[in-house]
Amino acid sequence: MRGSDPVSAATKTHCPYCALQCGMEIGPELAIRPRTDIPANASGALCQKGWTAGELLTNGERLTVPLLHGEPVEWDVALDYVANRLSAIRAEHGPDAVAVFGGGGLTNEKAYTLGKFARVALGTSQIDYNGRFCMSSAAAASIKAFGMDRGMPFPITDLAEADIVLLAGGNVAETMPPFVRHVTGPRMIVIDPRRTQTAKLAWLHLQPTPGTDLALALGLLHLLIAEDLVDEEYVAARTTGFDEVRTSLSAWWPERVERITGVPVYRMRQAVRAMAAARKAYILTGRGAEQHAKGTDTVTAFINLALALGLPGRHGSGYGCVTGQGNGQGGREHGQKADQLPGYRKIDDPAAREHVAGVWGVPAESLPGPGRSAYELLDALGTPDGPKAMLLFGSNPVISAPAAEHVAERIGSLDLLVTCDFVMSETAAMADVVFPVTQWAEETGTMTNLEGRVLLRNRAVAPPEGVRSDLDVLAGLAERLGHRFETDPVEVFDELRRASKGGPADYSGITYERITAEKGVFWPCPEPGHPGTPRPFLDSFATPDGRARFVPVQHRPAAEETDEDYPVYMTTGRVLAHYQSGAQTRRIASLVKAAPEPYVELHPDLAEQLDITAGDVVRVSSRRGEAKAVVRISDAIRRDTVFMPFHWEGANRLTNPALDPTSRMPEFKVCAVRVERDS
Ligand code: SF4
Repeated sequence: MRGSDPVSAATKTHCPYCALQCGMEIGPELAIRPRTDIPANASGALCQKGWTAGELLTNGERLTVPLLHGEPVEWDVALDYVANRLSAIRAEHGPDAVAVFGGGGLTNEKAYTLGKFARVALGTSQIDYNGRFCMSSAAAASIKAFGMDRGMPFPITDLAEADIVLLAGGNVAETMPPFVRHVTGPRMIVIDPRRTQTAKLAWLHLQPTPGTDLALALGLLHLLIAEDLVDEEYVAARTTGFDEVRTSLSAWWPERVERITGVPVYRMRQAVRAMAAARKAYILTGRGAEQHAKGTDTVTAFINLALALGLPGRHGSGYGCVTGQGNGQGGREHGQKADQLPGYRKIDDPAAREHVAGVWGVPAESLPGPGRSAYELLDALGTPDGPKAMLLFGSNPVISAPAAEHVAERIGSLDLLVTCDFVMSETAAMADVVFPVTQWAEETGTMTNLEGRVLLRNRAVAPPEGVRSDLDVLAGLAERLGHRFETDPVEVFDELRRASKGGPADYSGITYERITAEKGVFWPCPEPGHPGTPRPFLDSFATPDGRARFVPVQHRPAAEETDEDYPVYMTTGRVLAHYQSGAQTRRIASLVKAAPEPYVELHPDLAEQLDITAGDVVRVSSRRGEAKAVVRISDAIRRDTVFMPFHWEGANRLTNPALDPTSRMPEFKVCAVRVERDS
């Protein structure tokens, strides 16, 4: 039964799922209608997930009462229990014995409060979030090159003006279909080992071996230089470091790159010539290029290509990362990352610590330093030097982390696991305490979409009785630990604005009223009268000298190559009907009907070689575990590669947790597997 708040005639809000954050209205019967005043989906489009999002609100599996060791208890009982256990664990093992794990779907207000809770109420350095698994490589590469990471540093509507868009490792036609409407004009070049729905729309599809995008990007830039197509004027005026990169590319001649990647030289040449001839062009990267143990270098190589073409910082051209999770952008700006304070500040920067500590009313020296990155944190749980307790918000790592069986073992070894969830996710099912919390349309808060546009999700409906917000949980625990935290999202956002002031992601001029009136505001927005910054690099980049930096990088093989025991590459990705770990979408009947079960996609030649036919159940094994899945046969995939979607238990039992040295991103997108018929 829901609470007593009235449901307005139609409330303007945004979709609960991906980073496009399509605008939608929710009517009294929870009917969803697309809004046409939000540029991301001004065409009136929503995908299947968005149209059915209202069903999440009435889902019969909804959690409505706190659970302590599986038994329903009063809120105060659960909060007292958790606070007492946290105090005891901290007293025995020190503050870093408690870990906090957040999510890229949390509102800015929650992500901010989570970071503050970890550093102030718990005093732990052990906080990170699942966004580390999504955009961290692109973020690291953008900071190196441009001095700032704002996924797409231009409005999404700019894409339509381009002649050509190169998309490396993204399948927007399935993951965020309304995005496609912005690229129907430009010719598209798609780089993907699969002929995805997006690749089918492309003018040119380059189909590299998994794990070789970096070599391909180096080969493309080598060709651009060899054909004398570099925008020398732009390079001289707006960049540094090109000569070093030019020298570093000498070994990446096209025939060698063809041998490594499998992409024919004439295709590479076509791509390079088309990009150079374009009046306006974009290079975009997605998880396919980024989720590698060399993801930062791969994105850097694509940024080098974009710089040599003269694209970033020009109106109608540029480089951008297509962020995935709903608040993947804002979630990486306000302090739930291991190395970060609000406003995209570095936690080891003395001035940043001083400023944020001042807002929080604590001494700067009381703030802990950087902690472990997401996978390293999960891997350390329950070990002698690792955390003994974990608070988990908006994440389901038992399904979504690499080497998921190992991660489940580590979580299982904790003395205390606490989750905040609105349905019983696979990870929540392992928890000692589960707090039932509000979801998207039951609460107000801001989200920052893939453009860096801060949007307002309005509460459209009262939550079921017994359900509270994550902010209430954090404030309830903070109070028991001797601190006072805000629970009103407006108050929290005001504090976030002050904490972000002067940082790279400066929200201090943004208010709920402005977001409503202006249909979103782009950061940085340092003053109330500031118009926001849709295109931050037009005049200069955010580097000390205002120039973008070329950074030399070299290709290297995947962390795990195929061999006799594991002779096939596996890559992973999403399907249209499901989102992330599927905890939400696997509970919506029409989405389950559209995509009911895990599958593995094989090329017909590989299927014949393995004596496997469509519909067979096979066992897919890697060095880390095995999974069963139904076979689909398709010539859209390379002969040497299989594909598994990651929305169900299974795919991530196989994936490789090898980490990028800079971003600490795991290598989700390539590992070596064996496929056998299940006897
Ligand atoms: S899932 Fe993404 S693309 Fe689909 S409706 Fe929601 S925001 Fe839009």
